[in-house]
Amino acid sequence: MVLNIDNQSGFLNDYHFQTLCLLYYPGEKFPPGESDAVNRASFKVLAEENDGVKSFTAEVTLAVGNRRESGFCRCDRRDFSFDADDAFAAQAAVGKAFLQAGKRLFSFAPPWGYLTGLRPVKRARYYLERGFDDEAVLRLFTEDHEVAEDKARLSIEIAKTETEMLKHDSPKDCGLYVAIPFCPTRCEYCSFVSYSNQKLFKTLPDYLVRLDEDLRRTAAVIKELGFNLKSVYIGGGTPSILNDEQTAKLFNRITESFDLSKLKEFSYESGRPDTTTKEKLEIAKSFGVDRVSINPQSTNDTILERVGRKHTAKQFFEVAEIAKKVGFFSLNADLIAGLPGDSYDGFMKSLEDVIGLGFDNITVHTLSIKNAAPIRFDEADIYDAAGDVARSCVSAAGKRLREAGLSPYYLYRQKNTIGNAENTGFAISGKEGYYNVIMMEETSTVFACGASAITKLVSPDGTVIDRIAFPKYPFEYLAAEQGIGEERIRRFYKD
Ligand code: SF4
Repeated sequence: MVLNIDNQSGFLNDYHFQTLCLLYYPGEKFPPGESDAVNRASFKVLAEENDGVKSFTAEVTLAVGNRRESGFCRCDRRDFSFDADDAFAAQAAVGKAFLQAGKRLFSFAPPWGYLTGLRPVKRARYYLERGFDDEAVLRLFTEDHEVAEDKARLSIEIAKTETEMLKHDSPKDCGLYVAIPFCPTRCEYCSFVSYSNQKLFKTLPDYLVRLDEDLRRTAAVIKELGFNLKSVYIGGGTPSILNDEQTAKLFNRITESFDLSKLKEFSYESGRPDTTTKEKLEIAKSFGVDRVSINPQSTNDTILERVGRKHTAKQFFEVAEIAKKVGFFSLNADLIAGLPGDSYDGFMKSLEDVIGLGFDNITVHTLSIKNAAPIRFDEADIYDAAGDVARSCVSAAGKRLREAGLSPYYLYRQKNTIGNAENTGFAISGKEGYYNVIMMEETSTVFACGASAITKLVSPDGTVIDRIAFPKYPFEYLAAEQGIGEERIRRFYKD
């Protein structure tokens, strides 16, 4: 894609313009220099100052082949329904001009308006916590950001649920994330760095030795800094790829090394049904796991095969029944709307299956296509420009899950998502995933261990966030020095 930016606003960076473009041109890349690409966008942003107030003028032209449309917007911070600053006004001028052009050219409006952030609920919570009432936040979302009303209302509802969930948290609370980046096979839509071939599986024993050491060191750091561990999340990849002995050893390390006396939630993302067994679930339960995720993504075998899941719906049904018998406080399942080849009816059938099995926590994702994933956006049956099917699935799922007694409790967005739709977690009251909320809303520090994991440090007043990324690939992780990020963590809390 050709992207021309003439940005004289004093705000916004190239990444912001690129992310906006993805709302109408998903999957695009932005190589520098001239090209004869079919898709083109140009942005011109000017700033002028009168009587101490800066105003911003944005002109945007979007094109596909020889079809092109333009948009124009001029605004300053006084045009908004709250105490906006200049950066907000610059962003709004560009966003509104962009949407004008996009709606004309593509004949649809992105449901989240020109919001490019992944955490719209965080924004809603921010305003609610500062005394805005529901109507004011609704106006802010729909008028200022041009978010669709149903998405704005959803954000406000979830913000309130989360505020209630987090009301007793203290700055000394933290979570722990443990990464097992190995999978039995690679799903076609996955961009996650996960090892899924036999040669690389050979590194797994060494990986677990290294992880064991990191867990011990992290436990010592948590103790030294006086944190209360409130949640543990073992995620993947596919944590159930470990055999029984490895699984028990991992849980043993966690329960032996960390003070779990204040723990609210212990989650095991068992993950794929093809590696989940009764024995592994019983081991998890014996070490105190109270929340298990088993993720079918679809219960249609043709779709599962199409996306390379290499397990059947029958395997999922069997494992779900086993998990129910083993007996956990909460059982979660993930589904994906917009999978290639899936239809509205197919997705709703998967949803009914999962509801029928009695899962009390169900996350509805929308397919997001990352550059590193084997599936490409240009595969004909995947992407319809407005994402109508995926968006219908997401909104019907919300309605059906509410009828089944589950309410939305966390939400996030990703780039390059079909139809610009979102991912939303639903739960029976009391079965919400606490870790999901602190992670997504960035309200507590989360210490991470393992390849590709990210430790997220949150300052005691919640205003500063620092991220420490572990080496992405297991072989890099194995080669890294001990004590990744430890000094930075100490500095962050002691300075
Ligand atoms: S199971 Fe999950 S992490 Fe593993 S390849 Fe599939 S989508 Fe990626």
